[in-house]
Amino acid sequence: MGYKNVCFDCRKAFNQGTDYENFRKTKCPKCGIIMKEVSQLFRPPKHNDIKKWEVAKYLMENGFLYQHVFEKIYKTEKAIVFEDYATYPENMRDAKEFVEKYKNRSILD
Ligand SMILES: [Zn+2]
Repeated sequence: MGYKNVCFDCRKAFNQGTDYENFRKTKCPKCGIIMKEVSQLFRPPKHNDIKKWEVAKYLMENGFLYQHVFEKIYKTEKAIVFEDYATYPENMRDAKEFVEKYKNRSILD
């Protein structure tokens, strides 16, 4: 799976392919700040859809980089089962619920 680099100031996302060997901090070609690496599952909002960009930024600041988040995790006799991907929210109210609900799956570093 590949990844994307995102600049929240310019509201731009750049596909970076799957070259994890050369995984690197990349500067935004427009404003020069270090961009955030996120899963390629991230679907950038339209450039002028500032509210959706704010939601995406909020999620990422809380450790949700558009990686898969499973809704259900449970144990059976043989294995731990991961089921059903949660859908990433698109408005701030849902985003706050999402962060609260899945905070143990966040990947803050
Ligand atoms: Zn930028």
